[in-house]
Amino acid sequence: MELVTDLFINNEWRASISKQRFQTVNPANEQAIAMVAEAGVEDVELAVQVASCAFALQSTGAWSTLTAKERSRLLGRIADLMEEHREELATIEALDAGKSYRAAFEDDLPFCISIIRYYAGVIGQIEGKYLQFHHAYTAYTRHEAIGVVAAITPWNYPLMMFVSKVAPALAAGNVVIVKPAEETPLSALAMSKLFVKAGFPAGVVNVLTGGPATGEALVEHPGVQKIAFTGSTEVGKKIAANAAKSLKRVSLELGGKSPNIIFADVLNLEEAVSAACNSVFYHQGQTCCAGTRVLVEKNVYQNFLEQAKSKSSDYNQEKGTLISKKQLERVCNYISIGKEEGAKLLCGGKQLGSVGFGVEATIFYDVKNSMRIAQEEIFGPVMCVIPFEGEEEAIALANDTQYGLAAALWTSDSMKANRVMRALKSGTVWINCSDISDPSLPFGGVKMSGYGKDLGVDSLQSYTEVKSVVLKN
Ligand code: NAD
Repeated sequence: MELVTDLFINNEWRASISKQRFQTVNPANEQAIAMVAEAGVEDVELAVQVASCAFALQSTGAWSTLTAKERSRLLGRIADLMEEHREELATIEALDAGKSYRAAFEDDLPFCISIIRYYAGVIGQIEGKYLQFHHAYTAYTRHEAIGVVAAITPWNYPLMMFVSKVAPALAAGNVVIVKPAEETPLSALAMSKLFVKAGFPAGVVNVLTGGPATGEALVEHPGVQKIAFTGSTEVGKKIAANAAKSLKRVSLELGGKSPNIIFADVLNLEEAVSAACNSVFYHQGQTCCAGTRVLVEKNVYQNFLEQAKSKSSDYNQEKGTLISKKQLERVCNYISIGKEEGAKLLCGGKQLGSVGFGVEATIFYDVKNSMRIAQEEIFGPVMCVIPFEGEEEAIALANDTQYGLAAALWTSDSMKANRVMRALKSGTVWINCSDISDPSLPFGGVKMSGYGKDLGVDSLQSYTEVKSVVLKN
């Protein structure tokens, strides 16, 4: 029997006012999972009203006036509940996003829980400054909560995106409305139950399921003070333009085409090859910071190709899937484009199995950085290997992209590593490692990969407004 889900507003479950619903599908077996409520403009209006009310109640003792210690205790309670419900949450995430249960249970859940615990711990780091500019005045700054934050998230890591936005927003004393991706709404709804169980006041966390129109209504609503968005560059640009009408604060975590530079003096080529394959093929390449452009110095180029071909086949065993038929068609189309452009296919290139939307781990070599497959975000398991010679060419190729989310480089020369790191236009640079993340490590891009940071204390501060206070002595 198909599951039917409602909207979560003011700690209550309710159908959308229009009674509209849409269906979600398990991408691994193409079976229907749920009929999900679609929030319209009236539902957005209601959610913003209750969230604003929960926020405004601060003077009478609701969310924002809880002490930092109290907010920390409640966030800690959420983390405990996530531990208790880890199997259930991992099952939902695997079904919804087409991940293996192992990846959801062993990779995603522990990281999500650690993000919540991190923000429960750093709440005390919201601190102002005491300023001494004139003997006649006492001056200081306060970091205050902004108000109603709308988080709009994508389908690739639904729960991780949910906690990456909700935890710092709540830690800083804001109230939130989450609009999860229409393909993967279920983990956000499962989390809603935990917020009630943990004792969060009504209206502090709300979840509106729906598609682009729901997101747009949140962006346009004057009662929403900040949009925290993760998704495609195309939608990010629309959101920035729409949010500008009411001068809302916006943070944008967008797409990428990250370079992974392997110099000939790499300490351990085998380790670099494994990391390169993992970066591109894990979760079928649906990771924003995947190192999809592998730049390999000529002296180790052949050796890299042989090892990468052999390693890539491991990823066809795990039988992951892309999120939808549309995404499968998009990735297959890019594979055809790569062949037409004259890139050479080393391995892969076909659909994986007959059920679900998986694609074989695919490697193109002798790719030119100007080709579309090297410039456009494919968001599938497609690696482009590009040969280079020397540091200067590596830097030029790495930066020759509209994106700037992440980059990795491999060398045994620490001076060179430092020089190249500084020259790379990128939000993150990994040296002799790749795809390392931590709740304390700010993550976000430059150029068309967006602006603003998720994670770290930087993200916590982005959910606050600085007030300057001056007292005449
Ligand atoms: P998407 O941009 O299509 O959708 C993301 C979210 O935006 C969804 O919830 C969608 O309903 C909503 N949306 C769509 N149009 C909207 C509009 N006009 N106004 C308001 N909301 C709207 O992205 P996707 O296809 O779900 O995810 C894949 C993309 O996300 C990739 O480009 C990937 O690189 C990016 N991504 C980036 C990061 C990062 O941290 N930089 C992390 C994960 C994914």
